[in-house]
Amino acid sequence: MTDTGFSPERIDTGKPHSARMYDWFLDGKDHYPVDAEAAEAVLRLFPDVKDSAWANREFMQRAARFVARQGVDQFLDVGTGIPTEPNLHQVVQEVTPSARVVYADNDPIVLRHAEALLRGTPEGRTAYLHADVREPEQIVEYAREHLDLTRPVGLSLIALLPFVTDEQDPYGIVRTLLDPLPSGSFLTLSHGGTELFEPEVWERIDAVYRAGGTAVRLRSHAGVVRFFDGLELCEPGVVQATHWRPEPDMRVRTDQPVYVGVARKP
Ligand code: SAH
Repeated sequence: MTDTGFSPERIDTGKPHSARMYDWFLDGKDHYPVDAEAAEAVLRLFPDVKDSAWANREFMQRAARFVARQGVDQFLDVGTGIPTEPNLHQVVQEVTPSARVVYADNDPIVLRHAEALLRGTPEGRTAYLHADVREPEQIVEYAREHLDLTRPVGLSLIALLPFVTDEQDPYGIVRTLLDPLPSGSFLTLSHGGTELFEPEVWERIDAVYRAGGTAVRLRSHAGVVRFFDGLELCEPGVVQATHWRPEPDMRVRTDQPVYVGVARKP
């Protein structure tokens, strides 16, 4: 069963978009010359950016599998990105074929590709909402229609919160998304780390994104841990992406400047 949210907005090919730049980092095909140009500028400043994007993506896969194996069969993934196989629903439906997934992103290009996100197992169910995480109530309302919020949900915010500035209250947003979820739910997130970049280099990377209209924030290790306040962090806590429950077949094994963590709501 499938469902899409709102009608598509126009795709803006005049300035770079984060989702399309990320697709370029992952060697995808769903970006425009303006995105490739900005992504190449980031690559020049941060030669490891493609490995970082893959390490982040591979963390999503390991974490989603981990949460599904804890018995969670409903997922809410905000800041989904352009589909890249395997997508979250494919990972969790391999563990539990009847798993349900609600995806949300605010980029019209993700909406355009949502069909690929909606093709799950016959028993499972996926839904897609075109929404902005800075309006979390709308996402909760939609999740309520598609998931059973009396049972645990895996909330994932992977490489999303860097796009929310402090003034936009990222901690309050995460609380609003978590509050309606019952005990036994999980929060999974990843976030670029302040301590892991040279400040001058980051300033120049941020400038590339700002030229596209979106600032990108790093957060300190303590700042990332704070997103998990009130939750029980799963081992090994908040660590760099490739250090989180590594598996033998990982494509990227080197240290990457991305903090990640998974925690359970008590
Ligand atoms: N979670 C995916 C994609 C990360 S790229 C992964 O880790 O592989 C970041 C995504 O967040 C992009 O798709 C971008 O469109 C989305 N995004 C950025 N700001 C957002 C916002 N305010 N609301 C919803 N989605 C947002």
